[in-house]
Amino acid sequence: MKIPIINSKRQYETIAQKAEAAVLEVMRSGSYILGANNKEFEQEICKYLDVKHAVTLNSGTDALHLALRALDIGEGDEVISTAFTFVATSESIGIVGAKPVFVDIDPDTFNIDAAKIEAAITPKTKAIIPVHLYGQPCDMDVIIDIAKRHNLFVIEDACQAIGAEYKGKKVGTIGDIGCFSFYPTKNLGTMGDGGLLTTNSQYIKDRVIALRNHGGAIRYHHDEIGVNSRLDEIQAAILRVKLPYVDSWNKARREHAAYYNELFSKCDLIETPKELDNTYCVYHQYTVKIPNRDKVHQMLAERGIGAMIYYPIPLHLQKVHEKYNFKKGMLPITENNTKLVLSLPMFAEITKEEQEEVARTLIECVKEVSSTVSV
Ligand SMILES: *Cc1c(COP(=O)(O)O)cnc(C)c1O
Repeated sequence: MKIPIINSKRQYETIAQKAEAAVLEVMRSGSYILGANNKEFEQEICKYLDVKHAVTLNSGTDALHLALRALDIGEGDEVISTAFTFVATSESIGIVGAKPVFVDIDPDTFNIDAAKIEAAITPKTKAIIPVHLYGQPCDMDVIIDIAKRHNLFVIEDACQAIGAEYKGKKVGTIGDIGCFSFYPTKNLGTMGDGGLLTTNSQYIKDRVIALRNHGGAIRYHHDEIGVNSRLDEIQAAILRVKLPYVDSWNKARREHAAYYNELFSKCDLIETPKELDNTYCVYHQYTVKIPNRDKVHQMLAERGIGAMIYYPIPLHLQKVHEKYNFKKGMLPITENNTKLVLSLPMFAEITKEEQEEVARTLIECVKEVSSTVSV
């Protein structure tokens, strides 16, 4: 049995009729960019998230970089974040000319260790970007408290965490700005690229509305250098079809995570993911820590199990940031985690039989390697 890490086709089958009808309607309407579907979707997602403003964009990366632009963060400024994330987080800091300052992670949650943020603050620090990695909320009370005391903005990278909650509030609505991605494999994914920025500030909303459309709120009046980051109507229409399903898909992911936990409870070589109290984790990824990870990963691939390493190289050691001369060993927990983590097949439609096959194979491989290789 071949089991991919995600099976987008299976989800498509559950919404095919509605999605195809919605796309056909857009094609026949003659309105293709920033039309009625964008407006409706912005309102629907505001209601879903319980936030005042939502601005659709072309990607999650644009949400992050336009968030920084809207807050006038750029050359000479520093932004605190994590190195254990997708490159888009620190890339967006680079796009605006600011410097990323990386803080180590909490080994249990994979998220930025809020207790270590304060030591990284300098007079140049302007913002903190916590990333709710794998769908797991960061410890937002601590982060917001630090930000308030030091007069910093908080931009939540919620690209992997739509629907996740921290103390009853949806992530992406707790800081000054929330950033979401609708890349096809995300928990709410469209059939192309798409992104969203959320805020309770009218000023930020107005700035981003202008920035996404060449820096002008009024057509052919340009106040600053903007970008073209408009979401097309076909993607917005698909997102409107899918949004009502997100909660049930996330609930299914949580049930699958609980089942994996149960299946792995008999193998103490496999460390299963932990959750913070008072949070609702949406398991964008189900990520375990195992010894001899690379060898096991290769064996799983040979046996048809589509596991993935998110992320094999931490961002401070990526060539893209070499000008900052970040040193190996600087973020020991992050660096250690990149050697241990393995994300397993996880999607709402995965079956119990498939999970059992994944678990049986993983346990078999981990034990086999551990008995032949010294850990
Ligand atoms: C996917 C992702 C992004 C970028 O989103 P795109 O829509 O692909 O640009 C940013 N941050 C994180 C954590 C992501 O997972």
